[in-house]
Amino acid sequence: MNMEAFILGCGGMMPLPYRHLTSVLLRRDGDLFLFDGGEGTQVSLKRLNLKWKKINAIFVSHTHADHVTGLPGILMLSAQVDRTEPLYIYGPPKIKEYIETSRKVLDMYINYPIIIKEISAPCIVHATNEFQIRAFPLDHTKTCVGYTLEEFDRPGEFFPQKALELGVPCGPLWSKLQKGENVLISNGKTITPEQVLGPKRSGRKFSFVTDTLYKPSIIDEVRDSDLFVCEGMFEDDLIDQAKEKKHMTASQAATIAKEANVKRMCLIHYSPRYTDKELHILLEQAQKIWPETQLSKDRMHIDIPFID
Ligand SMILES: [Zn+2]
Ligand SMILES: [Zn+2]
Repeated sequence: MNMEAFILGCGGMMPLPYRHLTSVLLRRDGDLFLFDGGEGTQVSLKRLNLKWKKINAIFVSHTHADHVTGLPGILMLSAQVDRTEPLYIYGPPKIKEYIETSRKVLDMYINYPIIIKEISAPCIVHATNEFQIRAFPLDHTKTCVGYTLEEFDRPGEFFPQKALELGVPCGPLWSKLQKGENVLISNGKTITPEQVLGPKRSGRKFSFVTDTLYKPSIIDEVRDSDLFVCEGMFEDDLIDQAKEKKHMTASQAATIAKEANVKRMCLIHYSPRYTDKELHILLEQAQKIWPETQLSKDRMHIDIPFID
């Protein structure tokens, strides 16, 4: 079951000719989850040639223009395919007003249900029997939330030899055991999954954090992420400006990554003051603290594999 992220836009504040505004698409086993949708989101989706018109849910960090101005176009174009499943949109207060007003004023033709849920973080915003998506509060100039998608533990490795020794024949009973169910065999004995499976294996975790001041509580929320996408808007010398605008430096993002023991971090939401050639300043400062830091780039693809 694959899980992968596509960086659709990595800029903050304003788009540049070569950099769209913040947006990340997460694809997990056919489900599509969009985290923010700044200007240019559709362009990247098109250039990546992704079949994206059945996005399952959109998770909005906050209603600043650089995070939501790409959404109306996405809602309109999603009506070009037949879909009966609803599109869920989650975000802080005002997201409902923004979407509903856009729909009305732009006379959008929408042929599928849109369900908008304004959230009050911390909370679980979306859950299935395989994973959950949680929102947690950030500290910005307006209500803003971060998100994690965390998979639940998976059953351990299956040992066929043990199953055979216990008298469970190869077939449907094996898959039941692998799914964690007890099975009854012909001699009347019950075999439990623990008898034929190794220890549980951990699931994967994706975290998305932008726009915020450095806040120690973020560390616990994103702990052990396989991929941590985090704003690193400024270099160290501009920490006062970062504080005033309620943003983080790349070094602060790296401090969170280090303390939270994440496996991989991608910086995002760069200040437009940095051209692509100047982004190495942010990268070098962050890597001094957390070597597993990378710069995200528009249309970058990141695989998030299981590690065991
Ligand atoms: Zn922003
Ligand atoms: Zn903002």
